[in-house]
Amino acid sequence: MVTKKILVVGAGIAGLSAGIHALRNGYDAEIYETHNLPGGLCTAWERKGYTFDGCIHWLVGTKRGSQFNRLWREVCDIDKLDIINHDRFMSIEGSGGKTLHIYSDLNCLEDHLLDYSPDDSTAIKEIIDASRVMSRIEFPLDKPDELMKFWDLPPILFKMMPMFKLMGKFSRVSIAEYLAQVKDPFLKEALGLLVPTGYSMISLISTLASQHAEDAGFPKGGSLQFARALESRFLELGGTINYSSRVKEIKVEAGHAKGLLLSDGIEAAGDIVISAADLYHSIYELLKGRYVTPLIKESFNDLPTYTSVQVSIGVDCDLSTEDQKLAVKLDNPITLGRELNDYIYLTNYSFDPTLAPAGKSVVGATLYSSYEYWEGAAKTRELYNEKKTQLSEQVIKIVEKRFPKAKGKIEVTDVATPWSYHRYTGVYKGAYMAWIVPPDSGRFKIPKQLPGLENYYQIGQWVEPPAGLPGSMLTGRQVMQIICKGDKKRFR
Ligand SMILES: Cc1cc2nc3c(=O)[nH]c(=O)nc-3n(C[C@H](O)[C@H](O)[C@H](O)COP(=O)(O)OP(=O)(O)OC[C@H]3O[C@@H](n4cnc5c(N)ncnc54)[C@H](O)[C@@H]3O)c2cc1C
Repeated sequence: MVTKKILVVGAGIAGLSAGIHALRNGYDAEIYETHNLPGGLCTAWERKGYTFDGCIHWLVGTKRGSQFNRLWREVCDIDKLDIINHDRFMSIEGSGGKTLHIYSDLNCLEDHLLDYSPDDSTAIKEIIDASRVMSRIEFPLDKPDELMKFWDLPPILFKMMPMFKLMGKFSRVSIAEYLAQVKDPFLKEALGLLVPTGYSMISLISTLASQHAEDAGFPKGGSLQFARALESRFLELGGTINYSSRVKEIKVEAGHAKGLLLSDGIEAAGDIVISAADLYHSIYELLKGRYVTPLIKESFNDLPTYTSVQVSIGVDCDLSTEDQKLAVKLDNPITLGRELNDYIYLTNYSFDPTLAPAGKSVVGATLYSSYEYWEGAAKTRELYNEKKTQLSEQVIKIVEKRFPKAKGKIEVTDVATPWSYHRYTGVYKGAYMAWIVPPDSGRFKIPKQLPGLENYYQIGQWVEPPAGLPGSMLTGRQVMQIICKGDKKRFR
């Protein structure tokens, strides 16, 4: 039997996952990536001996044997990575010296929050109980929705029983809406800082649940090393990655995807094309807008995304005894475009000594920032650089105030804006995850195939919003399940 050739656009986590599952199932797989590195948004960069991590805050699936861990093991040696779990998911330092610790352990968290605000015991207990239940639930991830048959449902429904009550209560309400009932203003503020408040309450519950289960750690070495682990698996299985190969167009003949045209004019022929590049770019540029569906069009028109700016700082001192994950109230709020930040998120990366030279430390500072603010500034290089310098000066003052040891010891700063992420990966409006889907819109997803176009599939964070790394990886697995099914092959 002739082996089918699958061409994958993009060596982000979704593209690597699709490539690995293609090879595991006996297909030829070749990936085309515009950069000379794997990972896409899951990346990091070096500056003067420091590694500035641009992605992972927490990676769901790091606990051996957990549901997502089993899926990660199919695409990389995740169990060989050192995983760092935090006792505190975050500490929130408000005005007037008020501090709340969001402990990863739900029992500690419950005691701490009840001590702080007994008047809010109803909401606190509800959140903690729901998170406990959630930490024990396994989701039906083994089969994509596209392949579900009605006889698959009874065992799933049975497994998901504990989830129904939670979904009924929390999936239709946003975090902001739910927190309106919290009486203590600082508790309300603090709980609203953990996950963007436009997401459904289920996102907050899942985040607390996965921290409690120690299933959402940080892989030592950071995001790029993690992406490299998938790249290694793909190469070991015999796949080819063409780096520095930008795809300009997906070639279509008689309604069938036939191959790729690269920006240097070279063409690559294949039996199947999977685009794991940003969805907007795939639809409007690589396919020239010929197969846009109303759902895709409306989603890009109507649904918001979150964008942030990250200032990374290399400090010539050891901060390993200092707090590691913080949200700190600002004396003077920072406005970046439409976004007003009255808190700044600080990550003291000393929990991973591989990211800085011995005795030195990396601090990352994150603020919300609209894409248009940086896109507009980027029209003039001087203005863009000036805005970056202004922001890093503000952040340096904040970091030196919060970590007095760092005063006068800052050796290097780097600002990554939504525009940087857009330029680097083509990601739509520099978004750090896919759309924020309104909590009442049910199970929202974008079909992986387009009407009128055969042999073409699209995957990645946008088809399973908001996705993140596990969701993106999963879409790579799902697409190969669908392709195997179409070829009457048993998915391995
Ligand atoms: C700042 C930040 C923090 C985050 N934190 C977390 C976190 O803590 N936990 C978590 O789970 N998720 C996190 N995420 C989200 C996560 O990184 C993304 O959801 C995920 O990486 C998306 O993967 P993807 O493969 O779908 O897309 P991408 O990573 O965008 O990959 C697309 C790839 O396609 C390539 N490409 C694009 N166009 C072309 C072309 N024409 N030709 C060839 N190649 C092309 C790009 O260069 C890129 O490599 C974060 C993201 C950001 C930006």
